[in-house]
Amino acid sequence: MIYLVIPCFNEQEVLAETTRQLAAIIDADTRIFYVDDGSRDDTWALIQQLHRDFPQVSGLRLAHNVGHQQALWAGMEVIAPEAEAIISIDADLQDDIAVIPRMIADYRNGADVVYGVRRERKTDSLFKRWTALAFYRLMTAMGGGTVYNHADFRLLSHRALEALLSYPERNLFLRGLVPMIGFRVEHEYYDRKERQAGESKYPFRKMLSFALDGITSFSVKPLRCILLLGFVFLLVALGVIVWALVQHRHGQTIQGWTSLLISVWFVGGSLLLAIGIAGEYIGKIYKEVKRRPRYFVMERL
Ligand code: UDP
Ligand code: MG
Repeated sequence: MIYLVIPCFNEQEVLAETTRQLAAIIDADTRIFYVDDGSRDDTWALIQQLHRDFPQVSGLRLAHNVGHQQALWAGMEVIAPEAEAIISIDADLQDDIAVIPRMIADYRNGADVVYGVRRERKTDSLFKRWTALAFYRLMTAMGGGTVYNHADFRLLSHRALEALLSYPERNLFLRGLVPMIGFRVEHEYYDRKERQAGESKYPFRKMLSFALDGITSFSVKPLRCILLLGFVFLLVALGVIVWALVQHRHGQTIQGWTSLLISVWFVGGSLLLAIGIAGEYIGKIYKEVKRRPRYFVMERL
């Protein structure tokens, strides 16, 4: 069975339509698996109803709202033993469901990971487009590999799913983790639509904290920046010291200026350097405590 794993948070306005559209395009070996992420509206009652009406629909109800990434993880973890492959997609069907059969075809042709990639962002506001672009750029600069314009619409084969689920971390940023597992990868392109109904469950506040999470769970570069800054400041301090002493010699200073200036620059630089060195160790500790798997075997002869 191939399972569509769909996290839902207060999605009562869209679920019936989503199910109708999905049921129309999937074939006999595909199932729909809803994860109710602690909704406060009638989402769960609706999922129960859909489960009665459609043989392909089943669901999972989480005890409280844990957020999109964790809800998706929960769904994938619960369904993994039965799933030959999973496809994760949002409940609002902003992602083109016509891509689903193409993803499955790629999977049948040997792909383990199929990324759904947005071709354009016409339906997103200018603000969302720019912040997203800035984010992908920053993320790449910081060394976390993400697939540009890919969110959480993807297919994972059973072995790719097992690999993903073996990551022990709690700070989830799936679109950063998935590229790390490797295996055979495909991309499918589509245009993203407007939300069918209801409103976005991702206000700017959540987006920002998600982006921060992404960067800090994949990169210790911010810490290294402090170290670099420390070096730069110490170098500048050397220059300032020479310059201040020369000024002092020529008597072009007021009393106390030379010693004060030298102390400020030298102590400042030393402090930054010291914090940077401590940061290097913290970065190492951070990498270790994540206990990430070292490798996955793809084939063996
Ligand atoms: N979602 C969730 N838990 C949350 C927030 C969102 O399960 O706390 C789900 C939501 O129901 C939807 C998906 O995550 O299926 C993406 O949310 P949304 O479409 O609101 O985000 P946007 O497309 O605006 O970024
Ligand atoms: Mg959406």
